[in-house]
Amino acid sequence: MGNGGRGKSEEGALRRRAILFSIPLSLFPLPLARLSVRLAEAFAERGGELVLVGGVVRDLLLQASSPHDLDFATSASPRGTEAALRAAGCAAIFTIGEKFGTIGGIFPEGQVEITTYRAEAYVPGSRKPAVAFGRSLHDDLARRDFTINAIALDPRTGTLHDPFDGRADLERGLVRAVGTPRERFSEDPLRLLRAVRFASRLGFAIEPATAEAICEAAAALGTISRERVRDELDRLLLGPAPARGVRLLCDLGLADHSLPDVPKLRGMEQETGRHKDVFSHTLQVLDRTPPRLALRWAGLLHDIAKPITKHVEAGKVTFHGHDHKGARMARRILGELHQPAELIDRVERLVGLHLRANAYAGEWTDSAVRRIVREVGDELIEDLLALSRADVTTGRIERRQAIARSVAELERRIQELRQQEDIAKLTSPLDGLELMQLFGRGPGPWIKPIKDELTELVIDGELGAQDKPAAEVIARRLYAELGLEAMPDARAARRGAQ
Ligand code: ATP
Ligand code: MG
Repeated sequence: MGNGGRGKSEEGALRRRAILFSIPLSLFPLPLARLSVRLAEAFAERGGELVLVGGVVRDLLLQASSPHDLDFATSASPRGTEAALRAAGCAAIFTIGEKFGTIGGIFPEGQVEITTYRAEAYVPGSRKPAVAFGRSLHDDLARRDFTINAIALDPRTGTLHDPFDGRADLERGLVRAVGTPRERFSEDPLRLLRAVRFASRLGFAIEPATAEAICEAAAALGTISRERVRDELDRLLLGPAPARGVRLLCDLGLADHSLPDVPKLRGMEQETGRHKDVFSHTLQVLDRTPPRLALRWAGLLHDIAKPITKHVEAGKVTFHGHDHKGARMARRILGELHQPAELIDRVERLVGLHLRANAYAGEWTDSAVRRIVREVGDELIEDLLALSRADVTTGRIERRQAIARSVAELERRIQELRQQEDIAKLTSPLDGLELMQLFGRGPGPWIKPIKDELTELVIDGELGAQDKPAAEVIARRLYAELGLEAMPDARAARRGAQ
């Protein structure tokens, strides 16, 4: 099972270990730690238990990132939670999901979400959990997906509640289902994708029994809503190691039920007998793109049409039209995932244009630069350049350098062009109409000398482009100095000529 290696280095493992045996609260940003203690005390005074739980605790233990928002679980009812929040001085209290018993609160230090202990009972054959308020913290932790997400922290004492040995899995770098893996995945198949997301984001391996259950349950992905799948894939792609995530999706058979075109890139040779296949190239490109959603999707899908466009002519492999065909495929794939229209448009265009920037062989002429900017559009050009840079993965150094140079040159020239255009945008603070109003007369050749002089002053930085009052003073002076009063209006001039 290619569920990948664990954390990258020995050092990472050592760091994790060191952290696990220190007191986690000391890693907590002080204002948030204080807020947690204050809240826990407000609950305790009302006979309630309040603990931090889920991602916050996991990330604190890993020192992965410091939390912005806090997720708590409590024995108090939603009503009791509201009362305790008010007692703790919370100004804004809102309900997130009444049915699920989640109450939100906003404090100057950050946002909190507090959920009454739950126990979920699943009716066989139904995917909707019958949510019941649980009686204990243990019940609440038992219904969570993975051991590393099922650890609670009492903010007052720093005590960890870890009935499923999540800490040990954090230390070993393992994603392991709570309880019986097969049951947990059939209760909610979204967990199949969540396992991969956490594994790729944290650099963890998937524990073998959990991985086996994922492979067995993969087809169940087809039974959940495309929106849930979409949201999970988006989060996976935006993570720090998207390629690892996609490789896992393919290895575990999840891609067949969420992104079936992607595994087809496997074993597609780019060139006869040499070089890596389209799949590994795609993954490299994906990891090299900055974490912007359209760009990551375009990275994943840019060569998606290579399998259907591959031809071998006289021992040479070609993929004619894979850019345009790929654009259409991207539209279909993202449409099936119910992605928003704007994202679909963007990715479709990026895939369709992905050869443009780095296919340019010669020097970038002014007109070539203008043409590509006009065709691609201002709002897309940055993403296209980023994709083009990421797409240069060939093993041949000379070719790689040549393409990289061409893309860098294009980028520089676009910037140059933009600056020129910005200069063109610098104009007189007063336009012709305003000058006519100022001097109470009609249009005529008397306007140009004033406007030209005002524009020059703006370009020289001696007059603000918006500074109308100062411009009026200068205009009056010029009007007098240049004797423009004597110059007739256009209408008057025409009349004079009749
Ligand atoms: P992230 O940092 O990505 O938000 P997280 O662990 O906070 O990670 P959330 O999706 O915010 O993930 O969920 C919060 C917690 O709720 C999880 O840590 C887990 O304990 C529980 N949870 C969320 N979704 C599920 C699910 N589908 N099945 C079981 N437990 C879940
Ligand atoms: Mg979360």
